[in-house]
Amino acid sequence: MFSDSKKSNRFWIQNSSKTIDQSEQASFCCMGIEEFHKCAGSRGFGIFTKRFDDGEYQFMLQYRAMDNGASAPFTKSPLSLVSEIPLKYCPWCGVNLNEFYKDKLGQMERSDLKL
Ligand SMILES: [Zn+2]
Repeated sequence: MFSDSKKSNRFWIQNSSKTIDQSEQASFCCMGIEEFHKCAGSRGFGIFTKRFDDGEYQFMLQYRAMDNGASAPFTKSPLSLVSEIPLKYCPWCGVNLNEFYKDKLGQMERSDLKL
């Protein structure tokens, strides 16, 4: 186990077999959004910020049927390759995203993923 000084800088994630430094956790409101932000642009779900012309940022939950840049297959039926919805609150912990990440909105921007 940890010494008392190390223990105070760490905490246990429920249902997880690993510990995380608070400094790592401090940059994200929770592990859910951290993991989905890492996955932005890959096949599946991703979360990132989109910057509008007026300078405002919006968090987006985006689903991609294929990796960013992959060629679409031929199909006779309409196929949505990318879908997204805006997020105001974290789907896992409920924080107001623009308030919590006010100093990190630009770092989480993925303009290359805009629809
Ligand atoms: Zn969260």
